[in-house]
Amino acid sequence: MSSSVEEFRTEFRSWLRAHLTGEFAGLRGRGGPGREHEAFAERLAWERHMAAAGWTCVGWPKEYGGRGATLEQQVACHEEYALADAPARVGHLGEQLLGPTLMAFGTPEQRERYLPRIVAVEELWCQGYSEPDAGSDLANVRTRAELDDAADEWVVTGQKIWTSLAHASDWCFVVARTEPGSTRHHGLSYLLVPLDQPGVEIRPITQLTGTSEFNEVFFDGARTAAGNIVGAPGEGWQVAMATLGFERGVSTLGQQVGFRRELESLIELAKRNGAARDPLIRDRIARAWTGLEIIRGNALRMLDGVAAGAPGPEASIGKIFWATWHRELGELAMDVCGADGMTAAGAPYDLDDWQRLFLFSRADTIYAGSNEIQRNIIAERVLGLPKEVRP
Ligand SMILES: Cc1cc2nc3c(=O)[nH]c(=O)nc-3n(C[C@H](O)[C@H](O)[C@H](O)COP(=O)(O)OP(=O)(O)OC[C@H]3O[C@@H](n4cnc5c(N)ncnc54)[C@H](O)[C@@H]3O)c2cc1C
Repeated sequence: MSSSVEEFRTEFRSWLRAHLTGEFAGLRGRGGPGREHEAFAERLAWERHMAAAGWTCVGWPKEYGGRGATLEQQVACHEEYALADAPARVGHLGEQLLGPTLMAFGTPEQRERYLPRIVAVEELWCQGYSEPDAGSDLANVRTRAELDDAADEWVVTGQKIWTSLAHASDWCFVVARTEPGSTRHHGLSYLLVPLDQPGVEIRPITQLTGTSEFNEVFFDGARTAAGNIVGAPGEGWQVAMATLGFERGVSTLGQQVGFRRELESLIELAKRNGAARDPLIRDRIARAWTGLEIIRGNALRMLDGVAAGAPGPEASIGKIFWATWHRELGELAMDVCGADGMTAAGAPYDLDDWQRLFLFSRADTIYAGSNEIQRNIIAERVLGLPKEVRP
């Protein structure tokens, strides 16, 4: 890595060391999948503190409030953040998904209105794609929006589901059908909808972990300004797919540092409680370690694709691999814990980190495209197999 990457890394590491102290010291390790409820307000304050020092959106161009960091610098940033055990981010959906989408497809007015507030963590965003009958088959979206010419507003009606962090968000980027009678990916639009209004109801869904990170979101005549459409009316599919590309791209690159930390503490536990003497457990731990090396290798290959403009098939390969690896780590953790893993510390849901990992990692192979869907992508786009038959 070039010295500028190392300088960047050192600068961020020093900043984290100096600032993850005092009122923020207790935030180490807080939040994240299955634990988003933890210290949310404090994590928001921390993230605004980072923003004030210019450490949010570092990969964005300087003209949009970022640091114009190179990919290598962004990876270094993700790694240092994880190594510092800094709290899980709360503004990541705006920073990693909507921001890049607006830079690619938004109007100058939209960029000016929304990007600075994402950088400053003043507005939080959620992703309104999935519906009860439109998950893997996203083109089946039924939420509809029509233009009220008199008011110069879109009127949105329909239901979204599994909307992560909607209960804590100010805005939602919504895929909605704006051409009546259209089907599949035609006639969809990508709208920016404010959530704090009478036409929006957000109902949290309780997960296996006992926590509620995602929600049902009901739009019943919800309104948003006519100008809050990204891309042309009816051409939202292209915009929505681009957002998913960002989701499967650079944003996942820092995660193996967190995975390594989990594996290392599991190894410590296995040594402490004697599970490491079991030959089958030892075998699985060694396999987990090897798997992590493969994840890292694949992530580095993916970087080449991202640098060339698009993540490419490595993103699908990587998604299947890390999601399955992490789910298996949860299963391994339960076997290392033995009988202790079977009871919660308190009723009904006072879970320890291993139990939470086991339960939440079941979701890894579903969100951001399930394993089956990733395999379809590889089959069709990489291997050139015939397209799957649709009913
Ligand atoms: C933790 C978590 C957070 C999420 N956050 C968000 C969010 O913020 N915003 C949002 O919009 N969505 C979110 N989702 C939803 C997620 O995108 C969907 O769950 C996912 O796309 C799968 O859709 P589905 O749940 O409707 O399952 P379905 O699409 O009904 O799939 C059910 C099963 O059938 C399989 N399957 C479906 N189609 C095929 C096929 N063609 N070939 C082979 N197998 C197939 C799937 O792989 C799966 O195993 C989240 C999900 C989770 C678990």
